[in-house]
Amino acid sequence: MTSPHFAPLPDLKGKRILLSNDDGISAPGFAVLEKIARALSDDVWIVAPVSEQSGAGHSLTLHHPLRPMKVGEKRYTVNGTPTDCVLVAINHLMRDHPPDLVLSGVNMGVNLGEDVHYSGTVAAAMEGALLGVRAIAFSQSFDDEENIPWDTAEKFGPEIVRKVCAAGWAQNVLINVNFPNCRAAAMKGVQLARQGKNKIGDDLVHRHDPRGRAYLWIASRRLGDASAPGTDLKAVADGYVSVTPLNVDLTHYESMHTLSQAFS
Ligand code: MN
Repeated sequence: MTSPHFAPLPDLKGKRILLSNDDGISAPGFAVLEKIARALSDDVWIVAPVSEQSGAGHSLTLHHPLRPMKVGEKRYTVNGTPTDCVLVAINHLMRDHPPDLVLSGVNMGVNLGEDVHYSGTVAAAMEGALLGVRAIAFSQSFDDEENIPWDTAEKFGPEIVRKVCAAGWAQNVLINVNFPNCRAAAMKGVQLARQGKNKIGDDLVHRHDPRGRAYLWIASRRLGDASAPGTDLKAVADGYVSVTPLNVDLTHYESMHTLSQAFS
């Protein structure tokens, strides 16, 4: 099956880039994303959540009003989710001149394997793809919050964007990029990788609040497999940047064929 492709974009100079994220406009990773974008073009727009939205997935705000606030030149906050931000940016704030590219991140923490289904970072890129715009999500692996190797994303981010945009890719597909937990000098290279296994939710912490009522808190541990060859998990664990094209169309075509017998 062939689907329409984004035209290759060999030069991003003068192209319009929209930035968003899920960690909120003040997150350290967002400043890194801005550096990546400004290394590519001067026409950078920012529309990001006012507060942290990690784990928001692709949720839309339908039950309270959205109020974009201009906080600088081409710079807005929205009191909503990453999806709200990209939707409001493309269909309202930038309506007269939509972006050529949406960049999301750089998320503080990986979005590997099944993480992509819960991730607000990936959802912002997915919303861009659904609105017909090239989109790339960036996430950073780390183990020490005080010592996150953002220099890897800052150094290699622009080149990765240039390369994928020059190659072009199918519409309704977003590019998911994860940076390994190592400094730029130790980074081993870039690998195209498929989604691996990295399921969150097995680690539920049971506690009691100060008033004695029981509560649950979903902890960060994942049931993952960093040894499976060709996966995003293995690439990042081995010190490579993983690049994974993700299809917005979740249809499983092989199963369509299998099930067609049942409904013939
Ligand atoms: Mn986040």
